[in-house]
Amino acid sequence: MITKRDRVVIIGAGVTGTAAAKVLLEYTNVSQVILIEKRSGVAQVNSHPLNNAQTSHDGSTETNYDLGHALRIKPSATALRRYAVSKGDPKLFQKTLRMCLAVGPKEVLLLEKRYREFKPHYPDLHLAYREELARIEPKVVEGRDRSEIISALVSTEGFIINYQELAKHFLADAERDPRFKAVFNSSVKKIVRRDDLYLIQTDSFTISADVVLFASGPYSLLFAQQLGYGTDYAILPVAGSFYSSGEFLRNKVYRVQIEGMPFAAIHGDPDILDMRDTRFGPTTKPLPLMERHQYGTSKDFLRLPLLSTLRGLGSLLKIIWSKQLLTYVIKNILFDLPVIGPALFLREVRPIVPTIRYRDLKLRRGAGGIRPQIVNLKTQELEMGDATLVGENAIFNTTPSPGASVCLGNAHRDAKKIVGFLGPDYYFDEDKFQRELGELPKSA
Ligand SMILES: Cc1cc2nc3c(=O)[nH]c(=O)nc-3n(C[C@H](O)[C@H](O)[C@H](O)COP(=O)(O)OP(=O)(O)OC[C@H]3O[C@@H](n4cnc5c(N)ncnc54)[C@H](O)[C@@H]3O)c2cc1C
Repeated sequence: MITKRDRVVIIGAGVTGTAAAKVLLEYTNVSQVILIEKRSGVAQVNSHPLNNAQTSHDGSTETNYDLGHALRIKPSATALRRYAVSKGDPKLFQKTLRMCLAVGPKEVLLLEKRYREFKPHYPDLHLAYREELARIEPKVVEGRDRSEIISALVSTEGFIINYQELAKHFLADAERDPRFKAVFNSSVKKIVRRDDLYLIQTDSFTISADVVLFASGPYSLLFAQQLGYGTDYAILPVAGSFYSSGEFLRNKVYRVQIEGMPFAAIHGDPDILDMRDTRFGPTTKPLPLMERHQYGTSKDFLRLPLLSTLRGLGSLLKIIWSKQLLTYVIKNILFDLPVIGPALFLREVRPIVPTIRYRDLKLRRGAGGIRPQIVNLKTQELEMGDATLVGENAIFNTTPSPGASVCLGNAHRDAKKIVGFLGPDYYFDEDKFQRELGELPKSA
């Protein structure tokens, strides 16, 4: 009798892990997929709607992405949006405009150049000037000095996504398949490689896996390092807080990226949990934690080589020095303080909504996640975008922003990698994936 050796274990049930489960079950012939999550339900960490900016990024209006980078994430955004639309669930997504606002002639010129370069690849883009902006997003124009020149690069494909609802849909899809099992309230503590198997120890059981996929945020790197992978990497955890302001914006309004800054500038948008509340953020504050507001996770952070090794500390100092991040970080730390925080933050928000007042801004306490930014200890540089390590029959995803936007793209990539690990008897049904979640033909 031939025993099948194809048990895939996924660790972490945020959008990344649940998307991987769904894609493995729907587009491959693996015979067992097990999802292990330490919390009681899906998407309670960075994928929770209170903790991230709820944007489906596709690269077009994100001025921190050049065209090459933008086009690399576009297919992932397409897959996500097609999936969301197919569910027709208003709790899952709301469609608005998404725009990048330019203030002053230098920024206006920059967006005009970007528009010419990006328009052939993103037909949903147009440039809007003061008159149109007054119509589509009045608060951006109200009270603004008439002599101040403004414009916006506008995408009509502005999706606000509740990534926790998305994870619930992925889980429900997976649960329809008898090859799947999800185990909650079980925290993975240790992983070892024995013969051809991985032995995964949780706080309540031990399980073997032929292939393991870590979708556990910064913990993915910690487990990779337990297995000897990714030892040249560390994590700089960058917390992001949000302010509530009441009803101001109808759409997602981003700003032109601050030149040379590795983190996106703050933006404003309606909250999918209450579309009449405009959120502004996220701020950018390094914190020595793996998960926000979970202070016990600091000891796990110290097991990673950023603060606990000389080359980690050297890399951190070099990053802060070379990117001139010190004042920026101090300012962002102050944003979270009472009284002075909203006063300083107001200055960041006014270029978007000139009439906003101090009393409109309320810091959302207990909300906001942590972006696990990857530090390359060899180059002593920050590596932006999502990060994946591949080992022997193992994949480790650490997913800083825009990790949620690319969850289906990552699942597509990882499922193909997994059938590759398993050998010639296994397939990934690419035609079916493209039919269901790929770019629509031009005529459609
Ligand atoms: C402030 C902020 C704003 C952002 N805005 C956006 C945005 O607008 N658009 C976008 O695309 N992305 C955004 N992101 C990034 C996005 O939120 C993440 O990339 C995404 O949610 C990551 O999903 P994930 O499933 O990989 O991780 P998570 O959602 O964090 O899930 C990881 C899961 O692993 C579990 N886990 C961890 N360790 C273990 C263990 N040992 N055993 C078992 N389970 C474990 C955790 O409990 C958790 O459920 C933002 C992030 C932040 C912090």
